[in-house]
Amino acid sequence: MDNKDLMKNVIYFDGNATTPLDERVLEVMLPYLKDCFGNSASIDHVYGIEAKRAVDNARECISDIIKTSPSEIIFTSGATESNNLAIQGIMKANAEKGKHLITSVTEHPAVLETFKMMEANGYEATYVPVDQYGVIDLDMLKKSVRPDTVMVSIMAANNEIGTLAPLKEIGSITREAGVIFHTDAAQAVGHVPIDVQSMKIDCMSISGHKCCGPKGIGALYIRKSNPRVKLLPSVFGGGHERGYRSGTLNVPGIVGLGKAIQISKKEMAFEAKRFTQWRKYLLSYFSENDIVVELNGHPNNRIPHNISIYIPGIENKALLNRLKEFALSAGSACSTLEAAESHVVKALHLQERRSFNTIRIGFTRLNTKSEVEHLAKHIAEEVKGIRNIFG
Ligand SMILES: *Cc1c(COP(=O)(O)O)cnc(C)c1O
Repeated sequence: MDNKDLMKNVIYFDGNATTPLDERVLEVMLPYLKDCFGNSASIDHVYGIEAKRAVDNARECISDIIKTSPSEIIFTSGATESNNLAIQGIMKANAEKGKHLITSVTEHPAVLETFKMMEANGYEATYVPVDQYGVIDLDMLKKSVRPDTVMVSIMAANNEIGTLAPLKEIGSITREAGVIFHTDAAQAVGHVPIDVQSMKIDCMSISGHKCCGPKGIGALYIRKSNPRVKLLPSVFGGGHERGYRSGTLNVPGIVGLGKAIQISKKEMAFEAKRFTQWRKYLLSYFSENDIVVELNGHPNNRIPHNISIYIPGIENKALLNRLKEFALSAGSACSTLEAAESHVVKALHLQERRSFNTIRIGFTRLNTKSEVEHLAKHIAEEVKGIRNIFG
C-alpha cells in the first residue's frame, strides 16, 4: 500500500503542524490555477485586471479580520518569511535608534533562529522567560526595554502548548516605551479574535496553512500610522507589495488565503466552542479512567485547537508508535525527526522528563466528536498497556 492508501486509515489530529485545505477554499482557487492566470501587475488587459481584483479582495478579507486597512497588508510565502522580513527589516530600517531587540524563549524557530542570526551580526538580543503556563513575564519584559531597544517580537499563540500571550498588556508596554511590537500570529489568526488596534500591535505575521488555507502563502501586517513602522525589504526586484516584497504574486495562494480567513471569521466562534468541549471531554475521560495527565500551557488562555498533554513516565515516541491509527505529534512539526527535547516545554521549568513525556493533539475543522472519543479510548488503552509492561 502506498501512503495515500495508508492515510485513509489514519485520523488527522496534527492541526498545529498544518490543516487540511477547506473544500470551499479549493473551489475559489481553481479558476486562478487555470483560466484566470493573469499577472496581477499586468493591468493593461483583462487577465491582469481580474488577477488584481482577486488579490485586492483577499487583502480586504485579511485586513477585515484583524481590524486594519488593506493597504497595511502585504503577501509573503508564509509566516516564516513574514517573521524574517519583520525582524530583519525593522532592525535595519531603525539602525539609528539602536541594535537591541527582545523576544521570548518559547518562540517558533522562525523567530528564534532569526534572532540568533541577528546576534551573530552585531545585534543584541534579550530572551524573556515564561512562567509554568508558558506566559511571558511582563515585569521582565518591561525591565528589558532599553533606550536602544528597537522592537519586541512575542508570538500571539504558542504552536506547541497553545498558550495565548497577553497581547493587550504587551502592546501597552511597547507603545508606552516607544518600541515596535511584532507578533507571530500564525496560530492565532482565524482561531481567536485579533484586533491590532486595541492590542496595539504594529506588525504581525500570518500563515495560510494553519487556518485551512493553502501552504506557501502568508501575509505581514505593517502599521502605516500611529506609529508608522519603518521596514526595509529583504527581496528586491520589481517593487511589488509597495516595495516591501518584490516578486510576481502567488495569485491562487492569495485567493485561497483570503477565502480561508473569510470562512474562519464566520466560523471560529463555533469551532472554538466545539474544540473546547472536546478538550474538556478528553481530560475528564483520562481522569475517569485513572490515566494521570497534565495539560501543558495555560488552562484557559489558550487557542481552542491545541491540547498538549504530559503523561508522566510515558515516552512520547513509544506511545505514538502504538497509536498509528492517529496522526499526532510528539512536539512541534520542526523537531519530530530528531529526538531533541522541546524547547517550549523545557522553558516551563517543570519535571525533567516532561518534554519527552508530552504529546500534542491539534484539532481541525474536519474532526468529529466520535473521532475524539475514539482517540480518548485508544490513548487510555495504550497508556495502560505500556504501564502493564513497564510497571
Ligand atoms: C507554522 C508556524 C510558523 C511557520 O509558518 P509557515 O507559513 O509554515 O512558514 C511560524 N510560527 C508559528 C507559531 C507557526 O505555528
